[in-house]
Amino acid sequence: MALADFPRYPLTFGPSPVQQLPRLTQHLGGAQVWAKRDDVSSGLAFGGNKTRKLEYLVPDALASGADTLVSIGGYQSNHTRQVAAVAAKLGLKARLVQENWVDWPDPLTDRVGNIQLSRMMGAKVTLDSAGFDIGIRSSWQEAIDEVVADGGTPYAIPAGASEHRLGGLGYANWAYEVEQQERQLGVFFDTIVVCTVTGSTHAGMIAGFAGQERPRRVIGIDASATLEKTRDQVARIARHTAQLIELGRELRDDEIQVLEGWAGDLYGIPVESTLEAIRLGAELEAMITDPVYEGKSLAGLIELVQTKDIPATSTVLYAHLGGQVALNAYSGLFRS
Ligand code: PLP
Repeated sequence: MALADFPRYPLTFGPSPVQQLPRLTQHLGGAQVWAKRDDVSSGLAFGGNKTRKLEYLVPDALASGADTLVSIGGYQSNHTRQVAAVAAKLGLKARLVQENWVDWPDPLTDRVGNIQLSRMMGAKVTLDSAGFDIGIRSSWQEAIDEVVADGGTPYAIPAGASEHRLGGLGYANWAYEVEQQERQLGVFFDTIVVCTVTGSTHAGMIAGFAGQERPRRVIGIDASATLEKTRDQVARIARHTAQLIELGRELRDDEIQVLEGWAGDLYGIPVESTLEAIRLGAELEAMITDPVYEGKSLAGLIELVQTKDIPATSTVLYAHLGGQVALNAYSGLFRS
């Protein structure tokens, strides 16, 4: 089945905007830097990359007769907030397991930002003390069982909607969207930079771009310091998605590039390069990024452009995937 034949339930305003970042470009002194803003492309509780992924899961959820979306993430998960938003929009219930993924000293981390919005939208939230893991968790299975025991019909959405059969389709379509926008703008992005953690954003892009005529580099920036696991997960999801949309060939290993160097030691803990990137994006372009995801991928882009690893002749597209709501749980940053 071609990508265009998969049912898609619109949760976004349409194609996310693409913009030039002239002051950041000038500051870095190399490649032309643009951004595609998935952080401002939906009216559902600030949106973000999961909203785009969920457009392809919702028809499946509705067809299954589910009345409750069940998902899992950290206390400050953007993903679970977007699941709560979609459930509210569709008149479904949301059952969320929120784990203690980040050891960050903010006393309000289980009350402000994403988790506050999820509660506000009526999701049933359970806190769990388990630490960070991108794999399938027993607490999530227990939540699914609980919904059934209460007489409900669950629809299970794994962390980041990544280990889901349809999880890569949203960003395969992003690749198609980029191609259309390039035609309109008269530009070609030879390099894409994207944050990668649970993997299906980057993986979907790889599968989507692989079907296009002009090759380009799709660089995933590891933001959780679990490189091997992330690389395996991206490769697996990219190959599965490529098959699903009938790419017609196997993806090559060199098409799957996850780079390390900007995650620090732990998921959710910003390091110097993260803070510097957040500051540059904010001061030069008023483009706000967060300390968990986009601050780290922006740090990667900045260094790759400055070192000319991305050549000065390149035009690079930074995928902004959202995540700003989590800043509420990092109130200690940027106090001076
Ligand atoms: N950026 C933001 C703001 C996110 O919420 C996530 C979610 O994990 C990512 C990037 C990474 O995307 P993925 O989990 O699909 O690799």
